[in-house]
Amino acid sequence: MSANTQPASLEERLKRLIALQGPISVASYMAQCLSDPEQGYYTTGTPLGAEGDFTTAPEISQMFGELIGIWFLSAWQQSGSPTPFRLVELGPGRGTLMADMVRAIRSNPQAAEALEIHLVEISPSLSEQQEKTLSSLNLTPIWHPSIDTLPQAPLFLVANEFFDALPIHQWVFHQGKWHERVVGLAKEETGEGKLAFGIGSVRHLATEGSPQEGAIWEQCPIAEAITATLAKHLAHHGGATLVIDYGFDKLAYGDTFQALRSHRYADPLANPGEQDLTAHVNFANLARAARNQLKQANSSQIAISETITQGNFLLAMGLLQRAGRLGANKNPDEQEAIRDAVERLAAPEQMGDLFKVLAFHHRDIQPPGFSQLT
Ligand code: SAH
Repeated sequence: MSANTQPASLEERLKRLIALQGPISVASYMAQCLSDPEQGYYTTGTPLGAEGDFTTAPEISQMFGELIGIWFLSAWQQSGSPTPFRLVELGPGRGTLMADMVRAIRSNPQAAEALEIHLVEISPSLSEQQEKTLSSLNLTPIWHPSIDTLPQAPLFLVANEFFDALPIHQWVFHQGKWHERVVGLAKEETGEGKLAFGIGSVRHLATEGSPQEGAIWEQCPIAEAITATLAKHLAHHGGATLVIDYGFDKLAYGDTFQALRSHRYADPLANPGEQDLTAHVNFANLARAARNQLKQANSSQIAISETITQGNFLLAMGLLQRAGRLGANKNPDEQEAIRDAVERLAAPEQMGDLFKVLAFHHRDIQPPGFSQLT
């Protein structure tokens, strides 16, 4: 390679790989686009905020993180206030959720004193932002590349819009059988083929319901493995976990593999590594993975909540009361902005219904927001 040759783009590298080895699974494509060590989206990008590609609930309003902070404060107190109070976040973005949780938790001096922050993050640029955000609150978090290095101790762990970023497999129902959905090269008359979806080898999957020809079924083995590990961790050490994300809690066929670029939906096969790729989270699968793990470990002390909507969760946590207090003595424009944030977070047609919340924790505790446990 001569000195002035541009390094190959991720798209060129993927095309070469596919030309050499054949089509790759959607999971492999997604994993490489998001976390290629040099050109992956989370390795290089500025995903969040107005200049980024998407906005998350904590970036909409401080109320979101404050109410979740209150949830964890309650879970920690009901657990006997284990010290240190290890507050963990998976995929903390810009650190906004953690900062808002901490401000709420610090209303309790004993909890404030006991707090120890752990962050699981793969993005170097977002880790830098997290450090900046949290150092302004005099916090020195401990970073982890994965959940494997988290302390063997009670953990109070939140994951907001983390599981949607993990690679999914897609299966296509074709001629009565499930096949892996793959990314290959389209055959074109001239030049190099574009990246295109195709149908790969047959997989023997247990079929639920009655899928139609062309139906798509998604699975996220990494998300299930993480959930199972967290359930086992809770059974051994105690603590509580809260998972929040967009997704569904019942069997649903359909293609939810999506790309966001500059706050607009885009073609997931365009511009690899330069746009956010996600899929809806299947909460039923996560709860099942946790339940199976607990069964294997013969542990009946851990309760798994029903999956509830973000709207119902936030309202049960006192969103309206919090908004009222926050708006007191503010000018009409600021009050309008608070009302608008409440709508965005909780209204059914906005984030309220699409986003879901799942909790698991020891049976002896009953943190607020949920009624039914299984
Ligand atoms: N929770 C934040 C950010 C959500 S964006 C919020 O609500 O604003 C997804 C986050 O997960 C980013 O911080 C991203 O860098 C991180 N992430 C994505 N894949 C990851 C992985 N495999 N391991 C650890 N962190 C990951």
